[in-house]
Amino acid sequence: MWFSKKSEDIIVELSTNPVEGLSSSEVERRKAQYGLNKLEGKKGKTLIQLFFAQLNDILIYVLIAAALISGFLGEISDAIIIGIVILINAIVGIVQESKAEKALDALKQLSTPKTIVKRDGQLVEIPSEEVVPGDIIVIDAGRYIPCDIRLFETANLKVEESALTGESVPVDKDAEMVLDAPDTALGDQKNMAFSSTLATYGRGVGIAVATGMNTEIGKIAKMLNEDEDSKTPLQIKLAELGKTLSIGAIIICAVMFLVGFLQKRNLLDMFMSSISLAVAAIPEGLPAIVTIVLAMGVQRMIKQNAIIRKLPAVETLGSVNIICSDKTGTLTQNKMTVTKFYCNKELKTIDDLNIENSSEKLLIENLVLCNDATFSETSRTGDPTEIALVEAGIKFNLFKDELEASHKRVNEIPFDSDRKLMSTVNTYDNKFIVMTKGALDNMLTICTKIYENGQVIPLTQEMKNTILDESYKMSDDALRVLGAAFKETPNTNVEISTLENDLIFIGMIGMIDPPRLEVKDSISLCKNSGIKTIMITGDHKNTAFAIAKELEIAEDISQVMSGQELDKLNDEELSEKVKHLRVFARVSPEHKVKIVKAFKSHGNIVSMTGDGVNDAPSLKAADIGVAMGITGTDVAKGASDMILTDDNFSTIVSAIKEGRNIFNNIKKSVIFLLSCNLGEIIALFFAILLGWATPLKPIHILWVNLITDTLPALSLGVDPGDPDIMKNKPRSPKDSIFKNSVGSLIFNGLLIGLLTLAAFIVGIKIHTGSTSLFPLYPSNLTEDALIYARTMAFIVLSVSQLIHSLNMRSEDKSIFSLGLFTNKFLIGSIVLGILIQDLIITIPFLANIFNVINLTGTDWLVVTVLSLIPLIANEIIKIFKRMSNSKKEIA
Ligand code: ATP
Repeated sequence: MWFSKKSEDIIVELSTNPVEGLSSSEVERRKAQYGLNKLEGKKGKTLIQLFFAQLNDILIYVLIAAALISGFLGEISDAIIIGIVILINAIVGIVQESKAEKALDALKQLSTPKTIVKRDGQLVEIPSEEVVPGDIIVIDAGRYIPCDIRLFETANLKVEESALTGESVPVDKDAEMVLDAPDTALGDQKNMAFSSTLATYGRGVGIAVATGMNTEIGKIAKMLNEDEDSKTPLQIKLAELGKTLSIGAIIICAVMFLVGFLQKRNLLDMFMSSISLAVAAIPEGLPAIVTIVLAMGVQRMIKQNAIIRKLPAVETLGSVNIICSDKTGTLTQNKMTVTKFYCNKELKTIDDLNIENSSEKLLIENLVLCNDATFSETSRTGDPTEIALVEAGIKFNLFKDELEASHKRVNEIPFDSDRKLMSTVNTYDNKFIVMTKGALDNMLTICTKIYENGQVIPLTQEMKNTILDESYKMSDDALRVLGAAFKETPNTNVEISTLENDLIFIGMIGMIDPPRLEVKDSISLCKNSGIKTIMITGDHKNTAFAIAKELEIAEDISQVMSGQELDKLNDEELSEKVKHLRVFARVSPEHKVKIVKAFKSHGNIVSMTGDGVNDAPSLKAADIGVAMGITGTDVAKGASDMILTDDNFSTIVSAIKEGRNIFNNIKKSVIFLLSCNLGEIIALFFAILLGWATPLKPIHILWVNLITDTLPALSLGVDPGDPDIMKNKPRSPKDSIFKNSVGSLIFNGLLIGLLTLAAFIVGIKIHTGSTSLFPLYPSNLTEDALIYARTMAFIVLSVSQLIHSLNMRSEDKSIFSLGLFTNKFLIGSIVLGILIQDLIITIPFLANIFNVINLTGTDWLVVTVLSLIPLIANEIIKIFKRMSNSKKEIA
């Protein structure tokens, strides 16, 4: 019962040191003793379990039944081939699934929260998993509590404990409290913070008392099965499509069987053909391919600094047409430098500051003391705005640690982006002085006096107007302006209402935060691809507009709206106005939800960035919530669909580009698979319907299906991105994946099917020397002729499909302009596929099993010409497409 012990006793019990923290060697020892600080998840499946899971499929049952029947009837080679097909299918399935799973696991790892701990006397940020009992942990607003912690210092700390207690209203924590009732409920243990709960306000420091499965949440083991399995809209749609196609395929096969029966064909042959065709035609590999292409795309995105937290986001990304972005740190570098200051009625550059002047000195002292950044020679942590202020102090030999030692902080009200202010109470000799800093407009409303050259005099409205005018000069130059004020207070009371009023204005400073260099290009790229960029900032209207203009987000100040103006509009009015707006300034996180909704009301697909605790609602409201990886709080990350590990706007644009490419690649794989399946159906169905001999044996179909459904389809899924993808407008999420592709799918399916039949006819003609047009009726044919012709059909079906995969790489660009070898995996799959086919017909043992024979050079010539026809036909069609596209462009 940690809550009933004094923190001093716990320090002794856990052999730790609140000032220095644990030493590295001690941490290693404790890691070995307690293990990682994480909850044990579900155990992974064994290989055998995975294997049997693959077999648990109705199609596989049918195949197994078919293999058994063939075996019983003495068709041993058929049985073996079907067995091999089942085996390879299962292996491919396992490999694909575990690859997808690994990729998703890696993603989870990347987005695990971090914790600030004190170790070897230094504050360091470590993955929460590495926390050990005895660690001294610093908690700030927006962080997940990494383990169970006995607090020994709290400053207005509030924690939301719904994960543990179900209570969603944050509770106040108080380190001073010692409870002795042994049965105090978790929710009442105010001096404790529990693993998996969330700090929403204030600060605290405590000792890790329990980690991993020993924590309260670990005991409940509540989160163990929380693995959510989110399917993307496309995956769901494709699964439905798969079902419809399966029913269609089964009907066709039943009809085929019936026709065969009426034609008095060999029933076993017909049965096997129908089953093989059904198995081949049902796109059972489709969901796996989609998942793996998505997962691999997501892996590529990680390399470009975007972590996708929810798979459906990948698809939505491709449709984004509005990016709402925070300014500070995302569009700008977040490297702030104080350049100007205003004090004693004068606006000067910072280098001209006279530290001997009492007002000017107090200005800097205020900004350094009312400041949470930590600063040492080796490391700087904290808000860049505050780091810049500490740096400004150093210029004038006012060091934060020295100042804090002589003017101890006795209380504080943290900064939040609604008030846009921060206050501390510091001791000056025997006095308590409130130091407040923050947004100038908010600051002036709570100041009644001004400190000029050592004198406190009343602050008139006229003086306020002059100060505001001076501040505009700074904000018009894109400077962020921060005001400073102080007052004496009789006690250390922390009520905002009593501390942050009736203050004495000291002065203000202006700091520059240059735009990120690469952002301008990304914004213009967005413009060309139908994506609007919207800047959202807590900064002043003028500062925001100056930067927006530089980045070419806005041209005119009428495109900027402030939070105040926004407050005056109702939802409809905002929705009307929003079309013309590009910048929202002086907004609080609450405004962001309104902004997202207003944009969404026009059917836009909106992405919104955020970092703070209060940004979570807007991140959830957006179609794509984007959290900052560096400056973002755990709350914002938890609510987001995507995390930027570099906080950079350009990364959002790269992710959108990648999202578009991933969708296109999935489309290529899907259309390819379906056109190949259609080809197989057509070849067999036509032949049967016309009463011809069957051009392919069941095992041929199964085999070709195996060769094309796996490597080539996957290789299309990793096709290099189309460099021109950002020239297109965003895809409407309502558009079907088949948009503009049904024609090509049917055409190519027909072509492949007819070419296979053609190969069969040519084969029979060459072998029999027949002059009749269709010498194809079974009664006329010898077994040798059939084997020969089927070999031709078998090879043409497989090779034409393999070659056809090249057509899928672009809807209108020639494969030669794309570069034949730019997708090496695809070329590799094609070559491998052809090689395997060649081996099957040349190695007598295999040829025997497959019931095929070796082909002569002339045969290969015929086969090659036939197999190249889909490529030639599609290249010609693409020429016409390009011509009509360029006509459209001219028009
Ligand atoms: P953006 O929304 O562009 O990312 P931001 O998130 O930095 O900007 P806020 O943090 O809400 O915006 O800051 C708004 C205003 O609050 C700033 O213009 C500044 O005047 C003031 N401010 C920012 N940081 C602090 C701080 N640490 N202490 C006091 N005031 C601050």
